[in-house]
Amino acid sequence: MTERIYYTEPARRSFDAVVTAVVEHEGAPAVVLDRTAFYPTSGGQPFDTGHLGTTDVVNTVDDGERVLHVVSARPRGDLLNVGEAVHGEIDWTRRFDHMQQHTGQHVLSAAFDRGLDNRTMSFHLGGESSTIDLAREVSAVDVERCVDEANRVVWEDRSVAIRFASPEEAARLPLRKEPVREGPLRLIEVADFDLSACGGTHVARTGEIGLIAVTAAEKFRGGSRLTFVCGGRALRALRGYRDAVAGSVRSLSVLPHELPAAVERIQADGKQLRKTIARLQSELAVHAAVRLIAASPVVDGVRRAAHVLDGWDAAGLKAVASSMTAESNVVAAIVGTSAPIAIVVARSPDVALDANAVLQQLLKRFGGRGGGKPELAQGAGLTGDPQEIIAAACELLV
Ligand SMILES: [Zn+2]
Repeated sequence: MTERIYYTEPARRSFDAVVTAVVEHEGAPAVVLDRTAFYPTSGGQPFDTGHLGTTDVVNTVDDGERVLHVVSARPRGDLLNVGEAVHGEIDWTRRFDHMQQHTGQHVLSAAFDRGLDNRTMSFHLGGESSTIDLAREVSAVDVERCVDEANRVVWEDRSVAIRFASPEEAARLPLRKEPVREGPLRLIEVADFDLSACGGTHVARTGEIGLIAVTAAEKFRGGSRLTFVCGGRALRALRGYRDAVAGSVRSLSVLPHELPAAVERIQADGKQLRKTIARLQSELAVHAAVRLIAASPVVDGVRRAAHVLDGWDAAGLKAVASSMTAESNVVAAIVGTSAPIAIVVARSPDVALDANAVLQQLLKRFGGRGGGKPELAQGAGLTGDPQEIIAAACELLV
């Protein structure tokens, strides 16, 4: 049985212990100690990492009575031996981050519980952000109200105490979260605000949480899922938003609060422009077709029109090709110049050529995707020099 130092001393970063067993966990070597400050994944909080002597601990696993320290093998392959005394050191940056998030979660959940009688059904502490799932849906206004309340408790710097209670004692206490374990219970008490059964590691005072910020709220399984960040993560999130906003306001020359409207305007403008371009291209296609047909040679009674067209998009190329092959006895291959390169192969109804077969041969040689019918086929994403592609197409238009 491993003594769990973090139950009573969650702020302990290093400790001395003795190796009691070396086992395997999912194919990796794992060390069991008589006592440990390493927290194993449980209750929504991820595992600690760190060192046992010179060996890296890469994962910590709760194995009932024991705690498994999954280690990376030493370069020479000599692992810690049973009976060996060892000095353990946990990665405090990672652990303290987890403590900020986990204690922040207790305060946040309690705020929803006390303010709205909305229970937290589950908690996940992720790599970037964390989530709680609330039993019922919650309005944006209520989210802000409860987040304000949670931060008030953070800034009042209340004590976060660890208490132990028998199941009988616990049954008489107003626990927010009922225990999932049998036997003596470990309770986390945020002074005059929250009392929950929890085996996780917590900061000693709420002030260490720094800040609790909800970054997203969505409907989830009949309730709400809230994404939140605390402490150092809140600062990182703010920096991320700042950089994104600063870059956008600079290029759009607007104030931060004007961004949503500016983006909407740009989207509307883009839509309008695409419409205008489509209309102009279809009008221009007729003229381009006449010019290209006139510039194409007639071989065995069929006009072979293979051309590179600059400044046309895929829809425009198709309009030109269609216009050309509306005449009789025309085969056409039109290649665009802007990447990703687009191509259209087409023929008049009275010519026997299979346009799609020609396109497939070109795609085989120049890459890209596409397809179509014997009379007209389109491809896109070809790589190569447009002149080279059209020369290859020309040879196939027979
Ligand atoms: Zn907890």
